[in-house]
Amino acid sequence: MQVLRFDQLVNRSPQIEELCKCMICLEIFIDPMCCESCENHFCQTCLTTWSQNQSARSCPVCNKLKEKQGQRILKNMLNDLDVYCCYKQNGCLGILKYSEYFFHIKSCQFKQVKCEYEGCNIDILLKDKDQHDNTCPFKLLQCKWCQQEIWRKQLEQHELNECLQRKVQCGKCSSEVPILMMQNHVDTCPENIYKCQLCLSDIKLKDLELHNKNECPQVIIKCSGCQEQLKRISMILHMQSCQFVEIECENCQQQIQRKDLKDHTIAKCFKTLKQIITDQQRQIKGLFTFCEELSQQVNLLSQLQQQIKFSKHFKHKDIEVIKDGKIAQLNLNENKKFDRLIAIKNSKNKPIEIEFLHISDLNVCVGITQRQNIFNPKDYSKHNHQSYLFCANGIVYIDENKEENGKKKNFGFVIGQKLELVYNDQFVSIKNCTTQQYLKYNISYEYFDKDDIELYPVLCLRSNFDKARIVN
Ligand SMILES: [Zn+2]
Ligand SMILES: [Zn+2]
Ligand SMILES: [Zn+2]
Ligand SMILES: [Zn+2]
Ligand SMILES: [Zn+2]
Ligand SMILES: [Zn+2]
Ligand SMILES: [Zn+2]
Ligand SMILES: [Zn+2]
Repeated sequence: MQVLRFDQLVNRSPQIEELCKCMICLEIFIDPMCCESCENHFCQTCLTTWSQNQSARSCPVCNKLKEKQGQRILKNMLNDLDVYCCYKQNGCLGILKYSEYFFHIKSCQFKQVKCEYEGCNIDILLKDKDQHDNTCPFKLLQCKWCQQEIWRKQLEQHELNECLQRKVQCGKCSSEVPILMMQNHVDTCPENIYKCQLCLSDIKLKDLELHNKNECPQVIIKCSGCQEQLKRISMILHMQSCQFVEIECENCQQQIQRKDLKDHTIAKCFKTLKQIITDQQRQIKGLFTFCEELSQQVNLLSQLQQQIKFSKHFKHKDIEVIKDGKIAQLNLNENKKFDRLIAIKNSKNKPIEIEFLHISDLNVCVGITQRQNIFNPKDYSKHNHQSYLFCANGIVYIDENKEENGKKKNFGFVIGQKLELVYNDQFVSIKNCTTQQYLKYNISYEYFDKDDIELYPVLCLRSNFDKARIVN
């Protein structure tokens, strides 16, 4: 039965004791009720207990009873009281209002409770309940093997030594085996060593199948060639000579029976080899052609890099130069032995005066040509010779599909006649100063190599005794 004692009051006084004391329990009222006739108060539970020993529910003071709720003024006074928690001696330091006291003690962490597990039943404080739960030797826990519930204090022993379903580790193969199956396992453990019945060597059980299949020298196997059955140990020798075994041809990697290998090598494989050689020869030939093309291109490129150098010291017996430093580069046409191309120093728009001192053949020319032609002269009687050349016999060699015939215009020159050559990027013209004949052509660049469109005035001497003079 709940009791709130006067010694729990924080501020105890005789006045409060007089006003708040229950006539039955002699302690502080809990849930007070009032007798209507004598106006005395009692705890509700005290009144009930008292009445159980009487013939009827009655007031202990006046014997009559008509109950009503305790007076408001009394209840207000009670609600205002400060009291210590009844679990103070267990460590609860709470000071509580009367109004919250009864709620507090229901869940006070310093309240004593009994451990709920059968066999334990010790008293513990509510705050220590979880901790005790984790260690209580009478708590029932499940065995990890058989799932039976076992007291904590017995579980370790049970799982380790007693449980009939526990697993133990095999000392040989390390696998976990139920204790009841251990005897069986010992006989079939894959790490157990057996004697092979055929070769008598010691083999682990797990290797026995592979041993029979691939290793045991005493097992009888079939020859893949002649199908004869022999012990493996004899088969090695047999395979080295059996005529029906397939062997890889070293040349073509085909699998050929030993008896046919010789014929194969001569007949088929030789053909294969020949084919391979032919293919390779063709490839090599192709490479050679490619190399030649490359070297031609390299030559051409290096020619393009060449510069025409005019020098004061450049001299030739066939050329007389009035002013020094006018000529450069003398080249023979490879096909026509005596052709000489002589470049005259570049001077656009300025007339160059030329005079022939000797002409043994009317094919001598004056005109302009592309730079690379000076290094590698082309035959002027063919098209696309990269020049505009005026010939002493009246023919004008031009890079067009047809060659214009200057004779129609009566152009030509002979020994002693002075010529005047003028050119720039647009046109080339020549004048015979003696006869006053005059020819002019617009230069059409589409007939020139695009990489090298630099033009130079040139003389072309074609016979052994030709001789010319550059006047200015
Ligand atoms: Zn009471
Ligand atoms: Zn009464
Ligand atoms: Zn408390
Ligand atoms: Zn316990
Ligand atoms: Zn168990
Ligand atoms: Zn084992
Ligand atoms: Zn064996
Ligand atoms: Zn064989």
